[in-house]
Amino acid sequence: MPKKIAPRHAPPEKPRTDFDVLIVGAGSAGLSAAMLLGRCLRRVLVCGSGAPRNVTSPAVHAFLSRDGTKPADLLQLGREQLKPYTTVQLQQACVSQIRPTDYGFQVAIESEAGRAYSVTARKVLLATGVEDELPPLPGMREMWGRGVLHCPYCHGWEARDTPLAVYGHGKSATGLALLISRWSKDVILVTDGPGNLTQNARRRLRQQHIRVLEEPISHLEGTKRGELRHIVFKNGDKLARHAVFLHPQQHQRSPLAQELGCRITGKGAVWVDKGGQTSVPGIYAAGDNTPGPQKAIIAAADGTRAAMIINEMMTREECPR
Ligand SMILES: Cc1cc2nc3c(=O)[nH]c(=O)nc-3n(C[C@H](O)[C@H](O)[C@H](O)COP(=O)(O)OP(=O)(O)OC[C@H]3O[C@@H](n4cnc5c(N)ncnc54)[C@H](O)[C@@H]3O)c2cc1C
Repeated sequence: MPKKIAPRHAPPEKPRTDFDVLIVGAGSAGLSAAMLLGRCLRRVLVCGSGAPRNVTSPAVHAFLSRDGTKPADLLQLGREQLKPYTTVQLQQACVSQIRPTDYGFQVAIESEAGRAYSVTARKVLLATGVEDELPPLPGMREMWGRGVLHCPYCHGWEARDTPLAVYGHGKSATGLALLISRWSKDVILVTDGPGNLTQNARRRLRQQHIRVLEEPISHLEGTKRGELRHIVFKNGDKLARHAVFLHPQQHQRSPLAQELGCRITGKGAVWVDKGGQTSVPGIYAAGDNTPGPQKAIIAAADGTRAAMIINEMMTREECPR
């Protein structure tokens, strides 16, 4: 048994807050930050409620050493690996309000059983993720993560060489269709009404043998397991496809950043500097809720980076010149 040693850092005799860091959200970003901060002997509370963004997907892909793992299993493993870090507490609870105080933040929490309580923390990390807004077409929500997909880097390999569709219009759908055509030679762009495509976009699509169908769509038809079979048009035509890709709109899963006055980018992400510090001192953010590519492994890395910066900031505060 290794000999227990006293923490090297010298926190105040009696800490002024219940926790050094409150982490809101227990997905890839939040759990990863918790692990790093636990390894720094920091007193951490992680509050997580609700499912991770990829909950409907059968597997997480392109995550080094965990390719093909079920999303729930990935997070379960993350929670288990936090157990040795006894200064980290995990609670299934929703953070409903965060208020700045002289020493950090006062945080209102509601447990899953409906019990309301509050804690104080020196720093806060928002790892609250985003929510996807799917078009209101029958079948979209039901097949989300299986027959309806958003990211070729996550799902393209599984869908390779099959008949695929891309849903959407304009520049974004054109770009996605061209990208998806790297995984399959049979890609059709379905625009569900006027495609808003420039002549140049139509030419680029034609060059890659991508057909454009502008017929309005009635619904998606598939299996109970969420696999796509057909796209059904309002005129009764059916198009057999293995999967449809789209770029859904999205919004912040939690209003906390906005309520705290954090700067929000034009695309709706929480603005952060290179270390994950938001525009509000002491409030950090990491993962899908911040700008940049959205992937589980990137969210995990973001969480780690923000946690390192938080630890270094607290060290600076504890070791005045
Ligand atoms: C269908 C689908 C499939 C995907 N497949 C892959 C893949 O194969 N590979 C890959 O790398 N990425 C994949 N992704 C992307 C991946 O899911 C995200 O990048 C990743 O989940 C982001 O992690 P996060 O921790 O930032 O957010 P999340 O995983 O969304 O976790 C945030 C958590 O915070 C909780 N929360 C929010 N507000 C509060 C609050 N106030 N109090 C307490 N808790 C709160 C949320 O409920 C949620 O549980 C996929 C995404 C989708 C939609």
